[in-house]
Amino acid sequence: MKLAIPKESKVPERRVALTPDVVKSLTKAGFQCGLESGAGEATGFYDAAYEGAGAVIFPDKRSLLAEADVLLKVNAPTPEELQLLPEGATTISFLYAYTVPELVNLSLQKRLSTFAMDAVPRISRAQKMDALSSQANLGGYKAVIMGANALGKIFPLMMTAAGTITPARVLIFGAGVAGLQAIATAKRLGAVVEVTDVRPETKEQVESLGGRFLEVQADGVKTEGGYAKEVSAEYLQKQKELISKHIADADLVITTALVIGKKAPLLVTEEMVQRMKPGSVIVDMAVESGGNCALSEFNQTVVKHGVTIIGEANLPALVAVNASELYAKNISTLLLHLATKEGFKWELEEEITRGSLITHQGELVHQFTKDILS
Ligand code: NAD
Repeated sequence: MKLAIPKESKVPERRVALTPDVVKSLTKAGFQCGLESGAGEATGFYDAAYEGAGAVIFPDKRSLLAEADVLLKVNAPTPEELQLLPEGATTISFLYAYTVPELVNLSLQKRLSTFAMDAVPRISRAQKMDALSSQANLGGYKAVIMGANALGKIFPLMMTAAGTITPARVLIFGAGVAGLQAIATAKRLGAVVEVTDVRPETKEQVESLGGRFLEVQADGVKTEGGYAKEVSAEYLQKQKELISKHIADADLVITTALVIGKKAPLLVTEEMVQRMKPGSVIVDMAVESGGNCALSEFNQTVVKHGVTIIGEANLPALVAVNASELYAKNISTLLLHLATKEGFKWELEEEITRGSLITHQGELVHQFTKDILS
């Protein structure tokens, strides 16, 4: 099978879907890997390294995609890329299919089979394919580093001849994958870390990393498979009251709260920002799904009421080397689960296939996407 890795076209994007190491192992497994010239350049993986690993370099997208069986990308394919693929080819990438009906329609017209990395079920068997987690983990790390950099203070306690510096206070909303890494990173830098999450089971995980869990005394949370499914207005009000005091004391706030399939919950209001100390910082990781902070702006850093609010939507791309290494492992593991060098197995009822396959043979087969788009 011929695999094609075009240059990512989203701006700014520095990740690449396959690294030379992973190309080497796929070539060994009998796949033919083709890359658009310069596909890995922004990450520091040059054409020569891919050629050394057994790949063929194509001068442009058109020649690369014309004969491809499978397109592998980080971000969703562009309409142009879908048009250039042969009818019946397969794509694997992040897609968030329910947000891109035009790409779904184009895939249906061209009878493309499309797999979405963001829809791979979060089950233990699929952990190695879980790109949402691998990228959120790195994002949580980078959020703390960016926040620390924007703060005019250091994180650790420091006793000096000229006086004692007290540790910075970090408040984290959401103790999922990104949040847990943010806790670990902030603790390593010496901050005092407080955390709020609606799922009570996260308390133990937060405490095992040295964070203090702020417990909301209220019901009204429904969880399913490790995700928050529904959070009542009453719960959110109680959470707001509890958090109010802690947010006013915080130097850095990192928000990562996500309720699956919904717009990000609004947790940091303008009034809360007004009550924060001048010079403090918020990093809103949920900015792409609407933001947890009322004042954050997509892909912008703004200063409001004396508080720096960072709305960087692609934190993993800022650590593109590690992010590409992990993503390449995720996507190649999924590919090897779905296919051999001879072709795809198309076991449509198998859990990982069913969870991540969006369109197939001219049909929209993914139930969640169907429910939202219909
Ligand atoms: P996750 O599902 O693992 O964690 C989200 C957590 O939020 C869960 O633990 C959930 O219980 C919690 N939560 C829900 N409602 C809450 C509330 N009212 N208060 C406190 N906690 C609440 O998700 P993740 O993989 O950790 O990703 C977190 C967010 O970061 C997502 O929105 C994701 O899209 C985003 N993300 C952003 C970047 C970026 O570059 N900005 C990178 C990766 C991930």
